[in-house]
Amino acid sequence: MEKKDCIFCKIVKKQIPCEMLYEDDKVMVFKDISPQAPVHVVIIPKEHIDDLNCLNQESSELIGHIFLVAKKIAMTLGIADSGYRIVSNCGEQGGQSVQHVHFHLLGGRMLQWPPG
Ligand code: AMP
Ligand code: ZN
Repeated sequence: MEKKDCIFCKIVKKQIPCEMLYEDDKVMVFKDISPQAPVHVVIIPKEHIDDLNCLNQESSELIGHIFLVAKKIAMTLGIADSGYRIVSNCGEQGGQSVQHVHFHLLGGRMLQWPPG
């Protein structure tokens, strides 16, 4: 179920443009508007889910699918061998700024650890 005023739900409904790389019945992948690495894409479920805390057993297939899509996108974008990171920020201290669960796929440069 979509959520009114959710920016990612608006992207799903194509009410806001994005640079889309992949779409199927469950997920969308698009370029992050403020890239933090040469490759920085966002993977979202089409269904609105506020954050990681809202996941349950029924979400497990969707989350597994998201990781498989992420892997395929990493291969397509040429970062599978050099390496990449998948990040999902949750809540205020996790740095979540969009309340629609999403996964960042970052790569194309040496990533630091630990994150700030
Ligand atoms: P987070 O801060 O972890 O919630 O991640 C939200 C991400 O969404 C940020 O990296 C933003 O740059 C990105 N973002 C916000 N609005 C858009 C948009 N309209 N199109 C693409 N990426 C967006
Ligand atoms: Zn949403």
